[in-house]
Amino acid sequence: MKKLNTRKLKKMMENAAKLIVANEPYLTEIDHVIGDGDHGLGMKRGFSALYRMLEKQEFHEVDSLCKAVGMELVKSMGGASGVIFGTMFIGGIHELPHESCCNLIQLARYFEEGEKAIERRGKAKAGQKTMLDALIPAVESLNHSAAQDEEMETAFLRAYYAALDGVKASKGMESKIGRSKNFREATIGLPDPGAVSTSLLFKAFYEEIIKE
Ligand code: ADP
Ligand code: MG
Repeated sequence: MKKLNTRKLKKMMENAAKLIVANEPYLTEIDHVIGDGDHGLGMKRGFSALYRMLEKQEFHEVDSLCKAVGMELVKSMGGASGVIFGTMFIGGIHELPHESCCNLIQLARYFEEGEKAIERRGKAKAGQKTMLDALIPAVESLNHSAAQDEEMETAFLRAYYAALDGVKASKGMESKIGRSKNFREATIGLPDPGAVSTSLLFKAFYEEIIKE
């Protein structure tokens, strides 16, 4: 598959919402040890609201859909991660066409601009044990796949694996930003909750793409 239409993209978002909600206990558990324990519930609140919104609303253009996804997350989640995950979907919106389909080059640029917007807003960098440590490798992988003209299926599988590698790498990092930085060395050994959430998003996107 070389293109994604709005219908498929919407299903990918719905699948992501379901997977985040299903993983709330695990996200809560890790944020409880190295943060203030609210990441799972915040994500569950945001992505349940997102699922309900998607059920009700029809979208015809990919950019309108993705913008509405980000806005719903900011509105319903609140807190640091509301802004962070909302920005992931809104920051690169200008890279998507106001049309019913998009290609991999557009999607790679979309996620790259979203990632850069998170860096600007949160003033975090790679290696500080945040969701960026999963998102940056996923974006690099998407860019590489786009340059190779790979199929969507391959590109999203690779992006998911790249995000997972980032989650593994985040285990060895000491938190330098956000609430978890107060826990210093105690954060070493556990993955960053936001990085886990990011890998789940790419997992859900991939699993939906390979469905009929
Ligand atoms: P809070 O830190 O307000 O309790 P959450 O617990 O919902 O928010 O989210 C924590 C996650 O947010 C962390 O695991 C990390 O991935 C991410 N995060 C925190 N600060 C930043 C930042 N400045 N830039 C990017 N991600 C961040
Ligand atoms: Mg927290």
